[in-house]
Amino acid sequence: MNPYSIGVDLGGTNLRAAAVDASGNMLAKVASATLPQANGDTVVAEIGRAIEALRAQVSGKDLAGVGVGVPGTVEREKGILIGAVNLPQLDGYPVRDAIARRIETHVILENDANAAALGEKWIGAGRDVDDLVLLTLGTGVGGGIISGGRVLQGYAGMAAELGHITVSPNGNPCGCGNNGCLEKHASAMAVSVMARLVGLGADLSSEDVYHLAAGGDDKARLVFRTAGEALGVALANLINIFNFPLYLLSGGLLPAWEFFAPAMMAEVTRRSFIFRNAPTRIVRAQLGNEAGQFGAAYLPFRPY
Ligand SMILES: [Zn+2]
Repeated sequence: MNPYSIGVDLGGTNLRAAAVDASGNMLAKVASATLPQANGDTVVAEIGRAIEALRAQVSGKDLAGVGVGVPGTVEREKGILIGAVNLPQLDGYPVRDAIARRIETHVILENDANAAALGEKWIGAGRDVDDLVLLTLGTGVGGGIISGGRVLQGYAGMAAELGHITVSPNGNPCGCGNNGCLEKHASAMAVSVMARLVGLGADLSSEDVYHLAAGGDDKARLVFRTAGEALGVALANLINIFNFPLYLLSGGLLPAWEFFAPAMMAEVTRRSFIFRNAPTRIVRAQLGNEAGQFGAAYLPFRPY
């Protein structure tokens, strides 16, 4: 028996999938675009095609199962996805069973940020610890918590919505109904919005703002300092709650690390006595945009 698994990372714009062996070696990978208007049947057919393409490339091994990271909350018993903001057409769609019927194998769904955290735990920056938090700083802020080597799900599967931690009580309004959510103050999108508010320009990406900061622009640097402070507030709270050894950051904001990390670390140091008294690392994640597919691939190998 020489098993491998397939990990699928289903995003709002991209579908990535990889065949991975039980030691975490990638055997093959495929990627395609997720059609924004596609209905559930079409998306599942695309996932099926990706899986078949990978199976055709791997020989002499047995498929242990398929893990799928999805952009929303997973209702585990039913194998459905709810609250899929970036793929609303999949809301309530029986994703797990539809895939399993197509390819006749064991299929496990997991929230995409949880899958990314699991990937980092398995073969990435978290492989030497059993407890970590991952924050993905992209269009929004995703969160995954690994406790005792396992994904912390919460009783309804909705734990680790870390992008919606309040970092500023009367801060920017969020689609979730709250004001001052972390993702409204420290995501790539938040950086674009802040750049507009300080008069840098109307349509700048976080990367544009980064280049301005690198060129010495004070307003651009202020934007990243502000994002860093918000991250520091959130991390101080997480550290005080969990006392974990490791907090990982990934996503589109990472290139600007040098501009947001000093403010983030100052804020964490000031606000968390746990951080000041227990060795705690806040560092970059290692697997980049492949974390989700590695974590999804790990799901069929989990010992529980
Ligand atoms: Zn929110």
